[in-house]
Amino acid sequence: MPELPEVEVVRRGLASSITGRQIARVRVFHPRPVRRHLTGPADFELQATGRTFAEPRRRGKYLWLPFTDGDAILAHLGMSGQFRLANVDAPLVPNTRIIFAFADGEPGLRFIDQRMFGGLSLSPGGAELPPEIAHIGRDPFDPEFDLADAVARLRRRKTVIKRALLDQQLVSGIGNIYADEALWAARMHYARPTSTMSRARAAAVISAAATVMRRALTNGGTSFDALYVDINGSSGYFDRSLAVYGREGQPCPRCGTPIRRESFMNRSSYRCPRCQRAPRH
Ligand SMILES: [Zn+2]
Repeated sequence: MPELPEVEVVRRGLASSITGRQIARVRVFHPRPVRRHLTGPADFELQATGRTFAEPRRRGKYLWLPFTDGDAILAHLGMSGQFRLANVDAPLVPNTRIIFAFADGEPGLRFIDQRMFGGLSLSPGGAELPPEIAHIGRDPFDPEFDLADAVARLRRRKTVIKRALLDQQLVSGIGNIYADEALWAARMHYARPTSTMSRARAAAVISAAATVMRRALTNGGTSFDALYVDINGSSGYFDRSLAVYGREGQPCPRCGTPIRRESFMNRSSYRCPRCQRAPRH
């Protein structure tokens, strides 16, 4: 799943290319990406036609494309969803699922999704915040993000720090990659109980997540399998700057100890065994 920086890269690209443009025609080539639009693909095409996009927005890893009339299209990128700009008559690349043609001409917008875990759905009244994602917590890039409040909520949880970082209702936008990077930066083990953490330690790890995601955004995001791309099809290069994620056996950039990969929450967790010691039980 793309995390906050990769989704923000997409949002910025869309903001500069579709904001203020009116949809002239929509074509849905496969029903699966619009499965959340319960009245079907033909109705999705009909409903979107004639509307004008306002500036695309994001909360955490969730992206939506507001219309000027107060409704929105909620976009789930899933594992492999991509938006790409292309002229409407240009040859379709494989896995093109939906195309938008605009009243002012080229380029059009395409939604491409190989594995089809993602998709688009119309969200009535969703321009400000689609009700479908209203439970998602604010992310650290949000001007209204309240660090003290996030710290207080985190310390009240009877859980461990990595599970808390991945909880999108607590702080959104952080996935497996940036959680591991934040924990390394804060010198913290993933299984550290949140209830034993001081305010300062909890704030440090959340701030580390914000810092690492900001650096990733500067580098266009992280891309391991060329599925996370911007609207021109280019991938980011932050994976070259990762300290621990995907670096099993390679030296910790801080102390040189080989990075260890362990299973946690059914996924790989990477840590430095010296900088990030296991909590005592
Ligand atoms: Zn180390």
